[in-house]
Amino acid sequence: NFSEKMAFDENLKKFKIGFSTKRKIYEALNQIFISKTVSSEKEILEEALEIALLKGSPNIRIKRSENFYMVIMDTEISQETIRILSMESGRKIINIIAGNCQITLKKGQGLDAKFVFVSNFYKGMRVNIRVAFLPISSKLDKESSLFEAVLRIHGLNKVFDFKSIGFTDDKVELLKKSYIHPHGLIISTGPTGSGKTTTFYAMLKLLSQKKNPVITIEDPVEIELRESNITQMNISEDFGYPEAVRIMLRSEPDIMMIGEIRDEITAKHALIAAETGHLVLTTLHTNSSLSIFSRFKSLNVDLAQLFSVLRFVTAQRLYNPLCPDCKRKVMAAHLPPVYRCALEESFKFAASMPLKANLREISGFDSVYIRGEKNCNKCGGTGYAKRKPLIEIAEFNDAVKEEIYRDLTVLSNPSPLEEILTGLSNFESLKTQSFNKLVNGEIDPQTYFNLSK
Ligand SMILES: [Zn+2]
Repeated sequence: NFSEKMAFDENLKKFKIGFSTKRKIYEALNQIFISKTVSSEKEILEEALEIALLKGSPNIRIKRSENFYMVIMDTEISQETIRILSMESGRKIINIIAGNCQITLKKGQGLDAKFVFVSNFYKGMRVNIRVAFLPISSKLDKESSLFEAVLRIHGLNKVFDFKSIGFTDDKVELLKKSYIHPHGLIISTGPTGSGKTTTFYAMLKLLSQKKNPVITIEDPVEIELRESNITQMNISEDFGYPEAVRIMLRSEPDIMMIGEIRDEITAKHALIAAETGHLVLTTLHTNSSLSIFSRFKSLNVDLAQLFSVLRFVTAQRLYNPLCPDCKRKVMAAHLPPVYRCALEESFKFAASMPLKANLREISGFDSVYIRGEKNCNKCGGTGYAKRKPLIEIAEFNDAVKEEIYRDLTVLSNPSPLEEILTGLSNFESLKTQSFNKLVNGEIDPQTYFNLSK
C-alpha cells in the first residue's frame, strides 16, 4: 500500500548507490505501484503531495501537453514526470485543487490561491500550499476554460546565496551592487516558476547583513528569517497590500520589500517611499524587464516620477543546461524534427534581436548540441544538468539616465531603450544570453526556444 511504498522510499535513501541505479529502482517501483493501484484523482493529488514532502521537492506542476496532462515534480536535478493523466483526469485534479482553495476558476483568468494539506504519511502535519492557476490559451481558443496549476510547498524552499543559486560571477557582482544605494527602487520581474522568489530571499539574506531595519510584505511569507533586523508581514484576505504598505511607511524602515505590486495604491506608495530616502525592492508580474513601464502606465503611474527613482530592473528565467558528459553535436540539417521545429520558430524571434545577436550571426552557424541518448551516470540519463537561472539586469546608472532624460518617450519603446542600456550599462537581454548559450552548445534548440519566447 501507499505508506509501505513511502517507507520503502525512505529506506532506499539510506543506501549509498549511484543516482542512476536509484532512479532505475524508483522507476521500476513506480511502474509496479501505478499499475497495481487504480487511484481516484483525489488520491493522485494526495500521492503527489506526499511524495513531494518526502523528497523535499518544492514544486509540483499539473501541466498540459497536447492531449494529456502531466504531473511533474521539480527535483534538485531536473523535472520528473510522476504521472501521465487523461485530459478528463487532469481537469478533475485542477478542479479538486480549486475546490481545496475555495475558489472558482473563470475562463481565461489566472489566479493565485492557497490551501492547507494535511499529510497522512507525516501523521497529520499541516502544510501550506500556494497555487498558481494558469489559463491555457491557444491561437484558436483565447478564452480557454483549461488550466494548468503550479503548487508551491511552503517550508521546503531554502535560502541560498546568489552564487549557490547558480548566477555567474559578473551577475552576482551586479546584483550585489544593486542594493548598495541607500535609496531608490529595485524591481524584479518574471513569470511564476522563474525562480524570482529564491532570488528575492537571497537578496533579503544579503540585506540582513547590513543591520539596517528591513520590513517585508509577502503573500505569503514563504521562508521565515530569524535575523533581528527583519520584520516580515503576511498578506491575508482582509489585510491587503495597500493596508500593509501604509503601516510599513509609518514605521519608517530603511529598506522595504514589497512582495508584488498589483494595484495603483501600492505602486504609488512604493514610489513615495523610494523618493523619501528608502530603498524599495519589489516584483512585478511582467515578462521582460523593459515592459515594466507599460505595466506601471496601466496602474496610472507617472513614468517620469518612476524613472527618477528607478535603479535596477531584473528579469529572470530558469533553464536546463545540457549535460556536458553526454550532449551530442548535430548538423542543423540533420536535426530531429522536434528540434528543427524549435529552431525554425526561434529564427522568427531572432530576426527582431538587436546588435550582437542579429540575423547575420545566426545564419553563420551550422550545428547545434542536443541531449544524449546513451546511459549517462552524470545526469542519470535525463540528458540535462541541474537547472540554472538566467537573468537580465537593466542598470539605470547616471549615463543611462542622462541619455533617457533627453527624450522620456523611449520609456514606452523597448527597442531604443534596449540599445541605450546595451551601449551605456553592459545590458545583456535574456534573448542575447540564450542565443549565446545555443551557439556555445550549452543549451539545445528547444530550451533556446522556450527562453527566447
Ligand atoms: Zn549526461
